[in-house]
Amino acid sequence: MTGFVFSEKPIQIEEGDGTTLYDDDGTAYLDFGASYACVPLGHGHKGVRDAVTEQFEKLTYVQASYPNAARTALYDLLAETAPGDIDYTWLCNSGTEANEAALKFARSATGESKVVATMQGFHGRTMGSLATTWKSKYKEPYEPLMGDVEFVPYGDPEAMAEAIDDETAAVIVEPVQGEGGINPGTKEFLQTARVETATSGAALVFDEVQTGMGRTGTLWASEWADVVPDMITAAKGLGNGFPVGATLCREWIANNYGSHASTFSGGPVISAAAGATVSTIVDEDVPTHASDVGAYMQERLEAAVGDDVRDVRGEGLMVGVEVGRGANRALKGLAMDHGVLALPAGRTVVRFLPPLTVTEDEVDQVVDAMVEVVGDE
Ligand SMILES: *Cc1c(COP(=O)(O)O)cnc(C)c1O
Repeated sequence: MTGFVFSEKPIQIEEGDGTTLYDDDGTAYLDFGASYACVPLGHGHKGVRDAVTEQFEKLTYVQASYPNAARTALYDLLAETAPGDIDYTWLCNSGTEANEAALKFARSATGESKVVATMQGFHGRTMGSLATTWKSKYKEPYEPLMGDVEFVPYGDPEAMAEAIDDETAAVIVEPVQGEGGINPGTKEFLQTARVETATSGAALVFDEVQTGMGRTGTLWASEWADVVPDMITAAKGLGNGFPVGATLCREWIANNYGSHASTFSGGPVISAAAGATVSTIVDEDVPTHASDVGAYMQERLEAAVGDDVRDVRGEGLMVGVEVGRGANRALKGLAMDHGVLALPAGRTVVRFLPPLTVTEDEVDQVVDAMVEVVGDE
């Protein structure tokens, strides 16, 4: 759990500006991981910094039972920008907590317990979210976890339809699997989950912790899939680096969520950070930029290294390259020889999740680095 140690001396990051990070020696790195998609607007974004500073000077924290303008503004903004009639928000501090809440809300609102999840899926590391996560390495040391979870092959509409029955409380699914290897879901698969859950009365939860905030080319990947789920969970990019999670839901869930709370839920500073992040993404149409530059990146990678790697895939600026000789070797080459920071997704996939404000010129530099790194294989 020490992060990426590529050499004897770990890369110690001390400063950041846009897509660029600087280590303690002042060496620059192109940040194409954005610390797991957590800085969609890039490092040191002025709008987020100003909103946080202003709120900090007014009021740092007050419990959620007292309405506060920063929190209310965030609720309103999320209701306005979420698909369809997803008008309610519960705020927390991380992705796993957002999913934990979604599972609890679904059980309470439906009175059922079964959860359908997907193979290779990742939903977090607390006991409930972990039970819906696929990889046994993450789960085995902590069993028994929450029970009554059934896994279906990702992308298989028939298996999804078959798994959903009258005892199903929730289906939880990533519109594009991140940790599982950058696997884009098909619209048919996601729409089947919508139709079948609507028929059976189960809650459809889209885990957008990684796909949200414009990353796949629309503010929510739900829009790309043309599906209005019952709940959307968000975290990673929501506060441009500040720790905040959200469970967005429809009225039937909000009215029957049971009893759930978190002390730090939607503190004013965190709400100001998330409010500034979401409004900037929407006002500056960042998702369209992500869609354009993401398509450019995939095309350039395909042309430059398509023949040297097993696959190039993704949606928007969620891009995976499946490399023959393992992701770690490629990641080390990118970091140490080319000053490019990226992420693994499983053992064989190099994952790129740059800030959504990344330029084509920065993409070109990363593609050139990839040519050298995978060309060596
Ligand atoms: C990272 C991630 C989570 C867990 O988020 P944390 O903030 O680390 O708890 C859940 N779901 C998906 C899809 C993720 O990528």
